[in-house]
Amino acid sequence: MSKTESPYTNKYYLHFEKGMYLCSHCKTPLFSSKSKYDSGCGWPTFYKEAAEDTLTLFEDHSEGKVRTAIACKSCNSPLGHVFNDGPQPTGLRFCVNSYALHFENEEGKD
Ligand SMILES: [Zn+2]
Repeated sequence: MSKTESPYTNKYYLHFEKGMYLCSHCKTPLFSSKSKYDSGCGWPTFYKEAAEDTLTLFEDHSEGKVRTAIACKSCNSPLGHVFNDGPQPTGLRFCVNSYALHFENEEGKD
């Protein structure tokens, strides 16, 4: 039941403020703006997760392809996919739907 939003026009694709991207459902911090980069694919992309053990990875056979899907470990919300063509040091590309994320600005915290 996971859907993919339109590329390039989604909320966080070209969003490069400093802060944390939380799960839009349970507000678990998932990705830091420090690991966000523009991969050109049209969705927010990160080369690493904010903390260990926050994501669930599983095989996705939708759309006639085999991909690795990612979901929030706390609430099971589907987030997007992870690919092996990201930049160093991880070599990973976490491609995440904007609607699955909620951004929290660093300056808003205190
Ligand atoms: Zn969650």
